[in-house]
Amino acid sequence: MSSQQPFLLTPGPINTSMSTKQAMLSDWGSWDQDFNAITAEVRQRILQLANAEQSHVCVPVQGSGSFAVEATLGTLVPKDGKVLVLMNGAYGKRIAQSLAYMGRESCAIDMGDYAPPQPEAVAARLAEDPSISHVALVFCETSSGILNPVAEIAEVVRQAGRGLIIDAMSAFGALPVDAQTLPFDALISAANKCIEGVPGFGYAIIRQPVLEACEGNAHSLSLDLYDQWRYMEKTGQWRFTPPTHVVAAFLQALKEHEAEGGTAGRYARYARNRDRMVAGMRQLGFRTLLEDQWLSPIITTFFSPAHENFEFREFYDRLKAHNFIIYPGKLTEAESFRLGHIGQLFDEQVDQLLEAMAAVLDEMQITL
Ligand SMILES: *Cc1c(COP(=O)(O)O)cnc(C)c1O
Repeated sequence: MSSQQPFLLTPGPINTSMSTKQAMLSDWGSWDQDFNAITAEVRQRILQLANAEQSHVCVPVQGSGSFAVEATLGTLVPKDGKVLVLMNGAYGKRIAQSLAYMGRESCAIDMGDYAPPQPEAVAARLAEDPSISHVALVFCETSSGILNPVAEIAEVVRQAGRGLIIDAMSAFGALPVDAQTLPFDALISAANKCIEGVPGFGYAIIRQPVLEACEGNAHSLSLDLYDQWRYMEKTGQWRFTPPTHVVAAFLQALKEHEAEGGTAGRYARYARNRDRMVAGMRQLGFRTLLEDQWLSPIITTFFSPAHENFEFREFYDRLKAHNFIIYPGKLTEAESFRLGHIGQLFDEQVDQLLEAMAAVLDEMQITL
């Protein structure tokens, strides 16, 4: 990568490999069988990654990750359904906002900025309110970086006989998902997160008998995953113009994911990035929002230094001058910033980042 290109420490878009970018250098006919074969292989590989080939189908949809979340909610939750949203950050809140837009009833267990949802509290709420048809949960809440207790919550939802919809946007591909042991109706991710593709579409892994019963649920034509699925099964094509170049790049990214050792290989690299980054940042005097047990290998939130010379915009601009793009914080209660661990990020870049951090603190005359 040329030294001119800034390094993204954000949770998607992320830095992609040169070979993934190069896969975009051809033009494809959206109806042509060569492109249909790419779509079919992408869908197949996604199911394989989740060990879901026997039970689920993969339905991709154009747009960013939020489009896929909205499409999944609108397709799976009937008009008279009700969703319990487990919130501990911005993405949980966005799920509730999507449901409000599409006129689906919802209620929430809101844990604030970062506390994890408690399985016992979920069980109690489900027992109390039989009108709740679905539970929505964010796997890794990217706004704080917390890894939510997905397996425990999924078990509680299964026991209560409700449907579980998981926003696994920033987790899928790096954190293990096994559809045969993790019970879910739908699990959603997007091209530009841990698989390391470029942005342009999202996808849902949906339990097939559940999707078969969803005809007529959707509030939106273009976000109707039932219709998208039926059409794709019948023709091999996307219903409306697909992001052809993005899909081709994603197939290349999936092959590179496999070559790196699949989900386990990616997890190992991202966890190493996190450990190296957190240790180095702590050595510089920064503090993490979360205790070690809750830190995800996706992104970590750091408190902004309580120093009179610290100002986020200047900190950001100076790091950018050193070629690193960091991510602002999303906490309501404390000033913070975030550093992502995903994308084409290796020891070398982490060490360069830590050097840049030290230099910027020096430039800003901040001693921690
Ligand atoms: C990235 C992300 C999304 C999708 O955000 P977009 O801006 O629409 O791509 C949704 N949920 C989580 C947890 C995410 O990390």
